[in-house]
Amino acid sequence: MNAYQPVTTDRAFLLHQVLNAPAQWQALAPFAEIDAELADQVLEESGKFVAEVIAPLNRVGDEVGARWADGAVTMAPGFRDAYQQFWRAGWPALAADPEHGGQGLPAVLEAQLYEMLSAANHGWTMAPGLLHGAYECLKHHGSDELRAQYLSKIATGEWLATMCLTEPQAGSDLGLCATRAAPQADGTHAISGTKIFISGGEHDLSDNIVHLVLAREPGSPPGPKGLSLYLVPKFYADGTRSAVVCERIEEKMGLHGSPTCVMRFDDARGWIVGAPGKGLAAMFVMMNAARLHVALQGIGLLDAAWQKADAYSKERRQMRAPGAKDTSFIADHPAMRRLLDTQRAWVDGGRVLAYQTALELDIARHHPDAARRQQAERWCALTTPVLKAAWTHQAFHGGSDCLQVFGGHGYVREWGIEQHVRDARVAMIYEGTNEIQAIDLLLRKALADGGAAFSALLDDAHAALGSSDLAAPVAARFDRLQALTRELVAACAHDKQLAYWVADDYLRAVAIALLGWAGARIEAVAGAAPDPERWLAPVRALGHWVLPEFDMRCAIVGQRLASATATA
Ligand SMILES: Cc1cc2nc3c(=O)[nH]c(=O)nc-3n(C[C@H](O)[C@H](O)[C@H](O)COP(=O)(O)OP(=O)(O)OC[C@H]3O[C@@H](n4cnc5c(N)ncnc54)[C@H](O)[C@@H]3O)c2cc1C
Repeated sequence: MNAYQPVTTDRAFLLHQVLNAPAQWQALAPFAEIDAELADQVLEESGKFVAEVIAPLNRVGDEVGARWADGAVTMAPGFRDAYQQFWRAGWPALAADPEHGGQGLPAVLEAQLYEMLSAANHGWTMAPGLLHGAYECLKHHGSDELRAQYLSKIATGEWLATMCLTEPQAGSDLGLCATRAAPQADGTHAISGTKIFISGGEHDLSDNIVHLVLAREPGSPPGPKGLSLYLVPKFYADGTRSAVVCERIEEKMGLHGSPTCVMRFDDARGWIVGAPGKGLAAMFVMMNAARLHVALQGIGLLDAAWQKADAYSKERRQMRAPGAKDTSFIADHPAMRRLLDTQRAWVDGGRVLAYQTALELDIARHHPDAARRQQAERWCALTTPVLKAAWTHQAFHGGSDCLQVFGGHGYVREWGIEQHVRDARVAMIYEGTNEIQAIDLLLRKALADGGAAFSALLDDAHAALGSSDLAAPVAARFDRLQALTRELVAACAHDKQLAYWVADDYLRAVAIALLGWAGARIEAVAGAAPDPERWLAPVRALGHWVLPEFDMRCAIVGQRLASATATA
């Protein structure tokens, strides 16, 4: 069974030829000096680290996994050593500010790193995957004292962080969180309660763990408005251990390399992060960063499954394919070619969209023009839920299609493809389930301002294609989405349930329209690639097997809309 091999030349092609990324980040003051050559070196070196250190540990992470005994968690063999190499080499600090020990590089390079890491070893990557969000949350909301003590430790990854939200009765509905935070005379809070499903709540990868915990003060209003965010470390500055205990870790379908912990807080001393009652707002800084990372997990996991399936399809002989003169391979059979090229199209298009979103994150922070910053914020707000939901869905369902390429050999453990399918399933659930992403997109974002921001996003995306022949079908799909959104705005005013019924199909239609846009961007420059067919075959598959679904999704939404309008 082969470990994942990152293909950095593909990623460089998308970054340079398709997105012209260096020109985009060089317009921003902090990155003005970062040229394409430096970006390529980072990509090359990170790909080497992923291939040599992280990918070979994927199997042991699945087979041995994390183990719990007496409150301590031992990670799979090799995991701690790999993590120590990772942070000491500066990888977690790639995009953090130099004043906090970071390297100050564009977020898109960090996005590429995490996509490769997730493809190579999803379980291991769960631990550092939360660092970036914890860093942003503390940077924006932490007090001066907390920032002085924790920010550089988190930025560099010397200490890992957790996100402690979920409780037995509170998952999607975090307003039901019951963990208490009792104010103390010295300004700290005593945190008590039980959090479940906490990724990396306990482990031996780093010497300290910083927990960010959602809890409520006694007497605070019920629901989300009563929630505040608190920081509780595993070890305090004087070396004493906090009253935080890992009670057990979950037995799971996959992702065995990552301990999913039940964490008990017994009057643990903690400090508030941000204003009282604004815990969810502070946490959303962390969750938004994490959502793009989860989308990258989806893209990476699908790429890893595709890579295995593609290699197998070229090795295994099979009866003669239609029109072939000789014995063929699985890859020569149209049914399998269709399947492989389709998943390749989802990976390539997902990368274009996710890398552009990472670029827009930096533009939103640093662009000198306020209108451009606002445009970038709009892009991030609207595309992040789409990327998270659609590409994690595809990682599981498309990964299962890749398993199909192996026939019975995919269902047994030998080739390792079944692990990808098991591991990928959870990404549809955590960081806000895919149903919650769909509601976020349609209700909170697309409909909230009468469709104006969404319509402007599609206009911006269309403008980026120019007036080539490729732009016309993309524009037609965008026009249809804009019309559908206008109709939904009108109908939802008198039917309070309608948007909830159609949100999933609406998100899927948006995802496919954006995928079509990404495919057109690739097609426009594929001729300049060393092997144009590498890029054009997936674009053709997109046209044949994926884009027709757009009409079906719009029809489903339209039908529900018509029945709502008829009964109004
Ligand atoms: C491996 C793993 C790692 C995790 N890591 C963390 C972590 O590090 N930190 C943390 O805090 N949590 C973590 N979680 C928890 C995860 O975020 C929750 O499982 C998730 O938010 C869903 O909550 P729930 O499981 O209670 O399901 P529920 O909220 O009970 O949802 C059940 C189903 O109902 C649907 N649903 C719920 N509400 C609505 C609605 N309003 N409209 C439509 N559909 C709805 C959901 O989409 C879902 O399909 C992790 C979970 C797993 C499995």
